[in-house]
Amino acid sequence: MTADSNRPMTADSDGVLIAGAGPTGLLLAGDLAAAGVPVTVLERRAGESPLSRALGVHARTLEMLDGRGIADELISTGRKISNLAVLGRVHLDLSGLPSRFPFVLVTPQYKVERLLEQRARSLGAELASETVLTDVRQEAGHAEAEFRTKSGDTRTRRAAYVVGADGARSTVRTKLGIPFPGHLVLSSAMLADVRLADPPGYWMQIDASDAGLAILLPIEDGWYRIVAWNRDRQVPDTEAVDLDEIREVTRRVLGSDFGMRDPRWMSRFHNDERIVSRYRAGRVFLAGDAAHVHSPFGGQGMNTGIQDAANLSWKLAAACHGWAGEGLLESYNTERHQVGKYVIRLSGSLLRMAQIRSDRVRMGITRLADAGLRLPALSSKAELAVSGLGISYPAGPGAHPVEGKRMPDVPLAGGGRLYELLRTGRFILLAGAGQAFPAADGWANRIRLAERTRSHPSLILVRPDGYIAWASDEPDDHERGSEARAALTRWCGEATAYADPGSGRSAG
Ligand SMILES: Cc1cc2nc3c(=O)[nH]c(=O)nc-3n(C[C@H](O)[C@H](O)[C@H](O)COP(=O)(O)OP(=O)(O)OC[C@H]3O[C@@H](n4cnc5c(N)ncnc54)[C@H](O)[C@@H]3O)c2cc1C
Repeated sequence: MTADSNRPMTADSDGVLIAGAGPTGLLLAGDLAAAGVPVTVLERRAGESPLSRALGVHARTLEMLDGRGIADELISTGRKISNLAVLGRVHLDLSGLPSRFPFVLVTPQYKVERLLEQRARSLGAELASETVLTDVRQEAGHAEAEFRTKSGDTRTRRAAYVVGADGARSTVRTKLGIPFPGHLVLSSAMLADVRLADPPGYWMQIDASDAGLAILLPIEDGWYRIVAWNRDRQVPDTEAVDLDEIREVTRRVLGSDFGMRDPRWMSRFHNDERIVSRYRAGRVFLAGDAAHVHSPFGGQGMNTGIQDAANLSWKLAAACHGWAGEGLLESYNTERHQVGKYVIRLSGSLLRMAQIRSDRVRMGITRLADAGLRLPALSSKAELAVSGLGISYPAGPGAHPVEGKRMPDVPLAGGGRLYELLRTGRFILLAGAGQAFPAADGWANRIRLAERTRSHPSLILVRPDGYIAWASDEPDDHERGSEARAALTRWCGEATAYADPGSGRSAG
């Protein structure tokens, strides 16, 4: 976060208060501000984090950024990678992903945060730096946060909702007494961002041996990230990192230390696998690392946090505008908790494969994985899992088969694409070319109508986060219309007039 934020905190509001200006909190803040919800972000840091941390932005996250008009700008900061090789022999080819973004974008986390912060500020979110949330309480009808300002004063602030996006050591989680069960999976891993005198000819290397584990990949402008784990030397995170030890492990795992030098950041870290049992406690929500942590294998942490925020933002906006049923807010927990558990399993299985000491056993398993991934059905499943495109949400009994699934981008009649239209932050009711639309006048401030360029049997209601809320193949226009109105009421609230704070207009 850039270091201005001298703007005074405004008076109490009914909006949303977010703890933490990491990628999760920043995306959420931008979305809420775009929807006209007063939003304040409290951030402990004084300025932008210089730490690269996450390096990979996956296809589904890029699609979500596309739905906010900032994917292309982020892509210009990094490098597109379509082929991933893990443990020497397990290959994933992302070039065939069914997305506008058939790759993983390699760019440092601070560039993602910079862009999200610019967006949030330009849309009117209030960001208070050097401001530490110290307590949170729930009262009837609102939540209350206590925080310490830059000048050391302690203040209290009410909000309709509080979101803890304050990272793995979340104060929000701790103050509410929410347990964070799980266990340690990797200790004493070393990280360095270095220059290489003799860079390798490939873009990324991840391998393991009886010495440990090493990951090498380029970040930007001639800087490389090396992560090394020495199987035989586990020390507390507080012990200083010695570049010689990283060199030694890298040589023993990757066959060379590539002449690494000039480290600009070195750190020792450990990894836990933990997840809260619920992402919601009344008016308080947890998102990102505050709700779940796991191994960095698979590069899922930042991506999952951003997608938590994208799932929560439109639901909170709906609640603040007064049209969300209670079930809508609760669906954040139902939908995202199962994704958090899945990501822990996915990244944990990769880590555990790498941690096997015996070369023979590890190579046997990676050979099997490689053989499996040569089967198109399995490789496609793995690619969809890693890229996030395979994520879907539970649909109720008797639902249309596509309900809960990700809606791919499609061209629209009259020009433009579906994900461009999602930038309005509204639901999209999407019909095949030439199909009649049901009457949806009462929801004009919550949904947009769009027509495909080609005929298609389904009428589809797309949520603001790009997932399918409802679909119908009913051929009879009248029947379809009444089904559609029932679905619009269920998802978008009653078709009644109400003040739209986003536009300052009265609609309905
Ligand atoms: C070494 C390393 C490598 C990683 N590599 C990858 C990768 O390749 N791919 C990937 O997807 N993920 C990776 N991750 C994980 C990724 O960095 C996190 O998952 C991501 O930062 C989570 O975002 P967040 O916004 O939820 O939390 P954070 O980024 O942790 O942000 C939380 C923010 O809250 C602030 N805060 C905390 N407490 C308070 C308080 N009480 N009051 C006010 N502010 C507070 C913090 O200062 C911080 O800015 C890596 C992490 C590390 C450490």
